[in-house]
Amino acid sequence: MKITEHLGSAKETLFSFEILPPLKGQSLKELLEGISPLMDFKPPFVDVTYHREEYIYKKHPNGLLEKISTKKRPGTVGICAAIMNRFHIDAVPHLLCGGFTREETENALIDLNFIGVENVLALRGDAPKSEGKFIAEAEGHGYASELVEQILRMNEGRYLHEETEIGFQTDFCVGVAGYPEKHFEAPSLKFDLKYLKEKVEKGAEYIVTQMFFDNQKYFEFVDQVRAAGISVPIIPGIKPITTLGQITMLPRTFFLDLPDPLMDELYKCKTNAEVKEVGIEWSIQQCKELVKQNVPSLHFYTMSKADTTYKIAKEIF
Ligand code: FAD
Repeated sequence: MKITEHLGSAKETLFSFEILPPLKGQSLKELLEGISPLMDFKPPFVDVTYHREEYIYKKHPNGLLEKISTKKRPGTVGICAAIMNRFHIDAVPHLLCGGFTREETENALIDLNFIGVENVLALRGDAPKSEGKFIAEAEGHGYASELVEQILRMNEGRYLHEETEIGFQTDFCVGVAGYPEKHFEAPSLKFDLKYLKEKVEKGAEYIVTQMFFDNQKYFEFVDQVRAAGISVPIIPGIKPITTLGQITMLPRTFFLDLPDPLMDELYKCKTNAEVKEVGIEWSIQQCKELVKQNVPSLHFYTMSKADTTYKIAKEIF
């Protein structure tokens, strides 16, 4: 079923979540068993992230370093198939511009269509960790809006090299990312919203937000998105803080602020266990307020660790 159908037929706020593929060499079994308790909250869909290549350096006996491209978390498509097969719910693979030519994107979409995936989250992706700046593949897309456009063309049966013929029409429902605290490269929120609107005009049917810790930022974002003329559902992304390290890592990595009342509590914590307790309680209060405002779904960034999300969801659903 399409995400828009799930959201459209829901009578109350839904529960959904995102997982990461395991590191290469690790098995899927543990991941699937780990998320299994979350099925108690009847998620209609689960997102599976995509991780582009990274560069590592291998030292040869002669001292020379070889730069090698490797994917540390492959398997997004396989995990989607496994989730649909095991839990009989929809899996939403994330699809990136980065690292893909248009041809590779087309082939990936054909694979996804053949395994029964009906939804994709279309993203630009970031530069590989060792590179400073996002650079599109020679035959790839520079922005998520272009990826949305390609998917929608396939939905019309228009493939890359057969533009004059109508081929098999896919029927993907496409979601895109939105940033309540602005995407880090955007010069202003106004310009970020201009490009968000472009993604929707190209055919995106829903938005999932970057994590935020201050609900006011989400509410203001929704107001501004609506004022910009965008009417699609906006699903809030929730991430409980669980470790001391995340207090500095999350703002640095995701370009967001931690509100002072949360920081006042975190500041008192000496251990990860104390941080986790504060983080869970903060997320519960966040979620309660969001549910009161009838948000379409609470979408949890689980980082594949389901226990924290379970504790929060148990208080909400
Ligand atoms: P875009 O929408 O293309 O925007 C990127 C930047 O370019 C923005 O600053 C925007 O304002 C600007 N822009 C857009 N169009 C134009 C234009 N035409 N001209 C000039 N500027 C423009 N990353 C992963 O690698 N894997 C994942 O699985 C993943 N999942 C994510 C899920 C969610 C819900 C979110 C919020 C993010 C996720 N990301 C993921 C991170 C994402 O890839 C990065 O944030 C990336 O930097 C931007 O992606 P985007 O799709 O928002 O890009």
